[in-house]
Amino acid sequence: MRPKILYPLFDTIDALKGVGTKYGKLIKNLCGEKVVDILFHLPSNVVDRTYTVPLCEAQDNRIWTGVITITEHQPPATKKHPYRIYATDGTAEIVLVFFKVYADSLKKNYPIGEKRAISGKLEYFNGMWQMTHPDYVIPENKLNDLARLEPVYPLTAGVTNKMVLKLVSESFLRLPKMPEWLAPNSLGDLEYISFNDALYKAHHPQNIADLLPSSQARRRLAYDEILSNQLALAFIRQKVRQYKGHSFKGTGELYNKVRQTLPFELTNAQENALKEITADQESPYKMLRLLQGDVGSGKTVVALLSMLRVIECGAQTALMAPTEILAKQHYDTITELCANTDLKIGLLTGKLRPKEKREINQKIASGEINILIGTHALFTDSVIFKDLGYVVIDEQHRFGVNQRLSLSAKGAMCDVLVMTATPIPRSLLLTAYGDMDYSKIGELPQGRKPTQTAIANVNKMPDVIQNLKRKLEQGTRAYWVCPLVEESEKSDLAAATERYEMLKQEFGDSVGLIHGKMKEAEKDAVMEEFKQGKKTLLVATTVIEVGVNVPEATIMIIEHAERFGLAQLHQLRGRIKRGYESGSCLLMYSYPLSTVSRERLNIMKQTEDGFYIAEKDLELRGGGEILGTRQSGFTEFKLADMSCHQDLLIKARDDVLAILKTDPKLETERGQALKVLLYLFEQNEAVRTYLAG
Ligand code: ADP
Ligand code: MG
Repeated sequence: MRPKILYPLFDTIDALKGVGTKYGKLIKNLCGEKVVDILFHLPSNVVDRTYTVPLCEAQDNRIWTGVITITEHQPPATKKHPYRIYATDGTAEIVLVFFKVYADSLKKNYPIGEKRAISGKLEYFNGMWQMTHPDYVIPENKLNDLARLEPVYPLTAGVTNKMVLKLVSESFLRLPKMPEWLAPNSLGDLEYISFNDALYKAHHPQNIADLLPSSQARRRLAYDEILSNQLALAFIRQKVRQYKGHSFKGTGELYNKVRQTLPFELTNAQENALKEITADQESPYKMLRLLQGDVGSGKTVVALLSMLRVIECGAQTALMAPTEILAKQHYDTITELCANTDLKIGLLTGKLRPKEKREINQKIASGEINILIGTHALFTDSVIFKDLGYVVIDEQHRFGVNQRLSLSAKGAMCDVLVMTATPIPRSLLLTAYGDMDYSKIGELPQGRKPTQTAIANVNKMPDVIQNLKRKLEQGTRAYWVCPLVEESEKSDLAAATERYEMLKQEFGDSVGLIHGKMKEAEKDAVMEEFKQGKKTLLVATTVIEVGVNVPEATIMIIEHAERFGLAQLHQLRGRIKRGYESGSCLLMYSYPLSTVSRERLNIMKQTEDGFYIAEKDLELRGGGEILGTRQSGFTEFKLADMSCHQDLLIKARDDVLAILKTDPKLETERGQALKVLLYLFEQNEAVRTYLAG
């Protein structure tokens, strides 16, 4: 139950004054649904309105604030012309310029002969000061009410800064006095500012330094958010530890049978990961482990071998893939690797006909199927296992903490292994997976050929196409990845389609197109044609990021590579590492190219080490960048920035350990305050499952 004190913050923003349906939707998209989301939408800049020199001494292009006397109105000659208002501050003349504004309102706001205070950008034009659409016009005696340093918020089309300012100040009226959830004296510089004060300061910056992640207010807020995250993860971990899971001590019979027929030796890293997983399986506790390994590091074999141990004990296993294509691919791989066993392997996807579905469900229920592979269809209610002992999740994107909780509730007792090919920097592991044990496959199998990566300006396109033509004639296959367009997915598609049409002119029917708006079956069909070589050039939006395996595909061309994040580029390039031959990847860019983008492309050129790339990615995202302007996506944090608040993470982890030791049920006064904190940052699921029982 959410504490009462937080109710006003969790109303939807419709409850705030002035939020009409029209703006409501835009603002919800920008900040979120709830009042608290407005309060956590922090400014990314300030406008300085302290520049008040007499006009005769003013400089061009500054935000100027001052008192003027209106002298003359000059309505436009035609509709196309602006409305002009002449005025003076006593030292120089200024003209105020308005486009498409009703004359009536201008006459009311700027009465001739009277004084008004204005603020806005000053420009020198045709020998005279000019201000186009002043930001403010107010009575002279209200000048002191004007915020001299005005916070500027991240905005979206249709939402003005003034609207956000108003919503923020209304939201503050609803902010209750929060109890202090930090331990006194435990936090050095943080303890001197309360949550309420920190939030207020964050919204009322006095200078640019106040906007930085290193400011006291921002650090306090970041700490609170991180603390709630770490506390929630600790709860999950404790909860999991309480389960008396199985102890799977296999006979080794199936395991050895499959290992003996593997067409390769396991790498040391694979052996180690397997050892760690086996230890979990044999222990009487429930296993919750993350297996991290770059694309192609051989996670599937490790997963399979660990499944066999469980099957030897008579239990069933399941492997969940993010997409149907991948599920089918896992099914094929595993069926092949298990060829000399009589294991029953099932594939359950959304595509099955009702009759097929019934049949397979029946085999799952009877225990006939040993390994079930599928998409999240695996966890629908109609699927009932006889005795599910072990679930492997091949993860595409990170699950949130809450999602993970609901998933493990489904198979409360079974062991869980989550596999991810997204290398995650060490510090972030703690925040995203702090509840899990962790294994890493940090090396690729021997003999993998390095991928050549080159960078080229997009104006080299004709050469690129000629080269590609030659390569394709020699029998390779290639991906052509189309730009990520930021505005909307629709234009993503338009760009890919356009490129597809153009390449068809060059390459004819051997070009295929795949994108996210296609139906699953259509995608599969195109992929199949590409696999079989009926198509040799595949134009794609980022849908191919997911792990499709076409060993003949050794070339990848990425357009507008500067628009992709490092992790994404790495993931994409991984597609051509599976080949029989060494791959080549071309990153095409166009101007403008920011320093960070250039740096990213260079890193891609220099290294293929996913873990190194992940660390660099984090570094390039952060480093004093002002919060709120950055596209996060990396973490679930709104207020904390892992590229500069890592020290707080360590502090929070220690803090949590102490809390769990002294007040595990959050019963003390501080414990009660911590509950408020958890609900404030919406760790509801964690509180519910842990504190309820
Ligand atoms: P990922 O970690 O991306 O899931 P996979 O498990 O799909 O990687 O393995 C990629 C490829 O490498 C597969 O074709 C697999 O058979 C092969 N492979 C796995 N382990 C080894 C190894 N130790 N030596 C050689 N090849 C291996
Ligand atoms: Mg895989």
